[in-house]
Amino acid sequence: MTTRADALKLDSQDAFAKKRGEFYLPQGTIYLDGNSLGVLPKAAVARVKHAVDVEWGTDLITSWNKHGWWTLPRVIGNKIAHVIGAAPDSVVVADSISVNLFKVLSAAVAQKPTRKVILSDSGNFPSDLYVAQGLCTFMNDGHSLRVVEPEAVLDAITEDVAVVMVTETDYRSARRHDMKAVTEKAHAKGALMIWDLAHSAGAVPGRLDEVNADMAIGCTYKYLNGGPGSPAFVHVHPRLQSKVMPALVGWWGHAAPFAFGQKFEAAQSIARMQCGTQPMLSMQALDAALDVWADVDMNALYAKAQTMCRLFTEWAEARCAKFGITLYGTRQWNTRGSHVCLRHEQSYAIMQALIERKVIGDFRAPDMMRFGFAPLYNSFADVWDAVDVLHNILETEAWNKPEFLAKKSVT
Ligand SMILES: *Cc1c(COP(=O)(O)O)cnc(C)c1O
Repeated sequence: MTTRADALKLDSQDAFAKKRGEFYLPQGTIYLDGNSLGVLPKAAVARVKHAVDVEWGTDLITSWNKHGWWTLPRVIGNKIAHVIGAAPDSVVVADSISVNLFKVLSAAVAQKPTRKVILSDSGNFPSDLYVAQGLCTFMNDGHSLRVVEPEAVLDAITEDVAVVMVTETDYRSARRHDMKAVTEKAHAKGALMIWDLAHSAGAVPGRLDEVNADMAIGCTYKYLNGGPGSPAFVHVHPRLQSKVMPALVGWWGHAAPFAFGQKFEAAQSIARMQCGTQPMLSMQALDAALDVWADVDMNALYAKAQTMCRLFTEWAEARCAKFGITLYGTRQWNTRGSHVCLRHEQSYAIMQALIERKVIGDFRAPDMMRFGFAPLYNSFADVWDAVDVLHNILETEAWNKPEFLAKKSVT
């Protein structure tokens, strides 16, 4: 029988244990929601303070040059490129995932004028599907979104598909698509390939160039710890950067923005994926947050992620299966992201009871408790203690209270 001492032993051997000190972790809280909103990196606090006091407060407009505000989205893009396995100067930070998806999707369909299908899967995050639906409605020229089961994506890539748009890591089951196989098939059938890396960036080794992806998007407030609402990233492979034209363009993507010409002429670089002015305070926090990643070995990080997911599941099943807990998704740990969904018919109330006891995860409809494991700051003791609290809540039926059963607006 495993004990807490086994978890502590794993922590003592963990090469990432020293990284934990680079983050603020609220006392007494076991935070298993880094896949939704990463914790605060200590370096971000000083950076934002400097940005407010000195850059905004004193240097004001001169900061665009003096403090590198204008180029910061591309400077940060290069730090992200390192994490997601993309070439330098192929990533820029801007806007949200949903907005960036609109840009890359519109740019991709325009490259394939004779094809009318955008292919995605039913495991995708709904916003991605909504954006594709909105684009099709807007184009009003016969384009449509085809949604198939995740397992059916490969076979559904046929010669009428303009672009395959899927998310690598499923936000509920954590199942990862085989990026190489899907990208190869898309290219073999003449389609472009867009990857959403929302639940992958900072959790699994980045492979965009290795798999020869065309474009990608992802957010920075999950595993990358950029802060609430921090701007998203967009990647375009260098071979496409001067070819693709997003439907949303603006002066930040102009070849000569300060010439203020009347006609849009796109920058011959990743800069064309920018539209307008970006939130500089958020950018500063993100830039500081990304410095934590400079020396991270992504393969080692993913190895720790897999161990955490496996142990959490094994410990939870050993102690809580008798209360009706089941795993949602595969047990092939090397084909998953870094979160685990457990099903139970009272998942919502159980999660509320967990949160009250300072074990933070989230509920995902219809019946899942989702626990994210961030290898940079979660410990194996966190994993053990979270299962311990879960077990206690189930055993005592502490979840069975009116205040836990009533749904809040953000779950
Ligand atoms: C979190 C997430 C989003 C969020 O999109 P925003 O526009 O940043 O709100 C989109 N897609 C996926 C797959 C996600 O996991």
